[in-house]
Amino acid sequence: GTWKSERVIASRQGPHLRLAGGDAGIINFCANNYLGLSSHPEVIRAAVEALEKFGAGLSSVRFICGTQSIHKDLEEKIARFHQREDAILYASCFDANAGIFEALLTPEDAVLSDELNHASIIDGIRLCKANKYRYKHMDMQDLEAKLKEAQKHRLRLVATDGAFSMDGDIAPLREICQLAQKYDALVFIDECHATGFLGPSGRGTDELLGVMDKVTIINSTLGKALGGAAGGYTTGPKPLIDLLRQRSRPYLFSNSLPPAVVGCASKALDLLMESNAIAQSMAAKTQRFRSKMATAGFTISGKDHPICPVMLGDARLASVMAEDMLNRGIYVIGFSYPVVPKGKARIRVQISAVHSDEDIDRCVEAFTEVGRKHGAL
Ligand code: PLP
Repeated sequence: GTWKSERVIASRQGPHLRLAGGDAGIINFCANNYLGLSSHPEVIRAAVEALEKFGAGLSSVRFICGTQSIHKDLEEKIARFHQREDAILYASCFDANAGIFEALLTPEDAVLSDELNHASIIDGIRLCKANKYRYKHMDMQDLEAKLKEAQKHRLRLVATDGAFSMDGDIAPLREICQLAQKYDALVFIDECHATGFLGPSGRGTDELLGVMDKVTIINSTLGKALGGAAGGYTTGPKPLIDLLRQRSRPYLFSNSLPPAVVGCASKALDLLMESNAIAQSMAAKTQRFRSKMATAGFTISGKDHPICPVMLGDARLASVMAEDMLNRGIYVIGFSYPVVPKGKARIRVQISAVHSDEDIDRCVEAFTEVGRKHGAL
């Protein structure tokens, strides 16, 4: 029962979809399109302009002949957005995570990783030769114990997702940074599910929790809130970024980001730096969904995050309910073991700034009907 099939979408990404061979008007609640910028007219126009001016692609890695002015401009803009010294682009955040640990850490060092970190962090850590410690999910006592144990190593790096994509929960960064200070460690966060919308001006988890000056390294994606095309990056101290340009294998041995993709991300950042109205609209809709679902009797994991996991427990229940939701025009996905722990199956709902209040209400109504039908309420 774990074989994955892929539904084919016959329209643009957005709150309303047409599925191939099916009806139009499906309301989509499973994209990471948090700010609705994937089909924003200005983002699309910026991509077309970049395509026309700079061509389809570079046919080269960055250090041979793959760096255009737009790549440098976007790196500068990302660093400015996060208030960091410099940034480096990758083809994806998966690549950014695959490239950083091996370039930074040696067998004399240690990396301490939350057990529920994203697969790409886990794989990046596997590629490096540092000593590996895995601490229990967001458990500060366990992190402290592991940091004490890791004092014997030259350098310590604590690695965590800023927001965890399966539970919609947010890493306790204040406490992590305090422990890092006490035990002389650096802090790395993956901000894929935070960049663009968490914190008062959408800078991310470090802004939300007031530790922008304490987190050393941020990896994030251009493939979710920031236009949704593709691409990832590392931002942080300039010497680190310089080192990555020399040593990071996914950067050195993979093609440059295509100009249209660079154009999308650059415009998305412009829109976010001009105003945080879009992020605020998403927060209000998240609040609407979470409170209406709680009133209906559902348990939603996490707090205030647009990832809203509707906790059901049973794998089959999650799968049949998700199927029945689609019959009612609501596209959501059920997750069960091994993607989430056994007995913790859920349907993950993701809210976007471009959902209307009516979309949200229709989703809650459908959940209530389907939940009653299958005995989840
Ligand atoms: N890190 C996290 C937490 C993610 O959720 C994802 C995407 O699913 C990635 C990294 C990889 O990002 P990208 O799609 O840019 O490779």
